[in-house]
Amino acid sequence: MPVLLFLLFESIAVALWLTKNNIFYLFNFSYIGLSLSLGVLLFMRRYRHARRVVQLLVGLYMLLYLGLICRENMQIEGFWYYLFTGVFEAATIHYAVAKIFGPLIFGRGWCGYACWTAMVLDFLPYKTPAGPRKPIGWLRYVTFAASLVFVAALFLAHVGNIERIMFWAFVGGNVLYYAVGIALAVVCKDNRAFCKYLCPVTVLLKPMSYFSLVRITCNKEKCISCGKCKRVCPMDVDMTDNSRRRQNGTECILCLECVKHCPKNAL
Ligand code: SF4
Ligand code: SF4
Ligand code: SF4
Repeated sequence: MPVLLFLLFESIAVALWLTKNNIFYLFNFSYIGLSLSLGVLLFMRRYRHARRVVQLLVGLYMLLYLGLICRENMQIEGFWYYLFTGVFEAATIHYAVAKIFGPLIFGRGWCGYACWTAMVLDFLPYKTPAGPRKPIGWLRYVTFAASLVFVAALFLAHVGNIERIMFWAFVGGNVLYYAVGIALAVVCKDNRAFCKYLCPVTVLLKPMSYFSLVRITCNKEKCISCGKCKRVCPMDVDMTDNSRRRQNGTECILCLECVKHCPKNAL
């Protein structure tokens, strides 16, 4: 698994390096591939913080190096910005790989192992949700539309120096995400409340991850229906149902908590 994962990312790294003639892509995707492979290896060695190690390695790299030092807006408004300018660089490539086409292979692995917003939220103490989901998931469409309107308005108003605005939108957007995400987690007693109700990226992630190649499945012959897996799931997924239409199936972040806690190795 670690080798296959590394090779997958390395092939993306080499393909982008050669097609874009930019060695940054070789470095970038090799680093991410190595971090993910290390995480899988640590998980196979039963290191309990394996996922958190990857989350910090990738999340900090993207937030501090790509976002603050290289001044690339990797938030959704950055995606719209590069899309409107017709530039297939940084944020558009990031979205294509991690959030649009990648989920066809690794589902919402991004959310479990790389997102810098969740990297902070996962430090909070509400690892499993205290209550049932609230019927406010529609809010994600509001934030999604707001990001699009914001960038479209900048273009329509012919605002100058949008690059600079994008950088400060990245800084301000992250501060806002952290503040709202932490407040929501405390109110809902659920670290992942922001992911469930507000994150605009899920508008892209959810439909694509429906078809994910990598997914949790249950061996019905081994399962004794003890329910431990569902109790530890941060995303309220019914992982004992093998159909693609299972409850909250497109919410799985591949954190493997259910797998770790199953007493029968049925997952
Ligand atoms: S749902 Fe959004 S905030 Fe949550 S981990 Fe995924 S991308 Fe990050
Ligand atoms: S606990 Fe299992 S089903 Fe729930 S999000 Fe993690 S991997 Fe997916
Ligand atoms: S923890 Fe394992 S045995 Fe228990 S319900 Fe889940 S899959 Fe079945």
